[in-house]
Amino acid sequence: MALEIDAAIQAKIAAGVLSLARLPSRASVVSGTRRQCDVCDELMVSTDIEYEVELANGRLVHLHRICYWAWFDACAAEKRER
Ligand SMILES: [Zn+2]
Repeated sequence: MALEIDAAIQAKIAAGVLSLARLPSRASVVSGTRRQCDVCDELMVSTDIEYEVELANGRLVHLHRICYWAWFDACAAEKRER
């Protein structure tokens, strides 16, 4: 599961949907709004915890809690490698 999320994150970064440029900030936590997750493309239902994050370019992305933290970890790892 974790590996699949990591692969999905890499695909979204390649597609320009997500970035590792900086740690995500200004995340809002809401209950699922039936949007598609910007990492795994699955719907977030009302029982899911949804993270809404504003990117550096002002675009909002919507992520499952687990997808958000996997992305956060990837950003933190990127910073350590520099
Ligand atoms: Zn997800």
